[in-house]
Amino acid sequence: MDRLGLIGHPVGHSMSQVMHSRVFREMEINAEYGLHDVLPEELGFFMKDAGEKFSGLNVTIPHKVEVMQYLDGLSREAELIGAVNTIKYSDGVSRGYNTDGIGFVKSLAHEGVDVAGKRILIVGAGGAARAISFQSILEGAEVTICNRRQEMQMAENLASEIREKTGRKAEALPLDRDTLKEQIPKADILAHATPVGMHPNKDSTLIPCELVREGLVVADIVYNPVETRLLREAGQAGAKIVSGVGMLVHQGAQGLRIWLGIEPPVESMYKAVLENLGSK
Ligand code: NAP
Repeated sequence: MDRLGLIGHPVGHSMSQVMHSRVFREMEINAEYGLHDVLPEELGFFMKDAGEKFSGLNVTIPHKVEVMQYLDGLSREAELIGAVNTIKYSDGVSRGYNTDGIGFVKSLAHEGVDVAGKRILIVGAGGAARAISFQSILEGAEVTICNRRQEMQMAENLASEIREKTGRKAEALPLDRDTLKEQIPKADILAHATPVGMHPNKDSTLIPCELVREGLVVADIVYNPVETRLLREAGQAGAKIVSGVGMLVHQGAQGLRIWLGIEPPVESMYKAVLENLGSK
């Protein structure tokens, strides 16, 4: 049996178990996926013999960066992004991957949107925005990143890291109305990568709806609610909308490819997540 699981703190809210268990049942795969609440001070102890117990792990907040010191190797994406959300153990060797960015790109592809050659305006410069930016660049997109807190220089640091590590163009701007007014008309895709609009603050949005136009693609990585205020208003303005459920499902699907070498039933994974969100 393949033992898989998620480590993080907390892990109770995670959709991964529901999503992966649905795949194992449907494909009759002998595997289990458990949730493991690991405190920061317990991470070293947990990782010591994890390779003997697990075929693979997912990693979530707060361990995505810290866990890298316990791994034998990293994928190109994980190295660029500087964080790991998926680990594979094989023949005593551990390798870390980051499937968040791939999940984002594939969630757009799922809706018929190819990021290659597109201009993406990314709102936020945290962990998810890092993954989205690097993966989009690797797939041939151009990115502009805007972030709220200027004193932290998060967007500037990310953009300069992208330029240094990939030799590609990346711009950083403050997140304010002037920037959005100037940048949204130039963008093909708007990627919202902050928690704004997430349950229970469902009425919040950072994007004034009058700036959204027909033909723009608006992707929100918030998945609870499935249709955020941003997506609802963007849809009403004629934009093509992509929900955060897609990123969640496709990062998980990529994990299953890495761990088990299977092509997972992505539609069933969407269904499992939507049913689970609906029951909350
Ligand atoms: P993070 O590392 O903590 O970064 C949060 C980002 O949001 C920062 O750029 C922060 O800006 C910005 N932000 C927070 N509150 C804001 C506000 N009120 N106004 C403007 N900007 C604000 O978090 P993360 O890991 O990137 O995750 C962000 C969200 O994405 C979370 O809701 C998470 O659940 C979701 N997510 C979804 C998926 C998926 O699969 N769909 C995957 C990963 C994450 P400052 O620097 O100015 O604070």
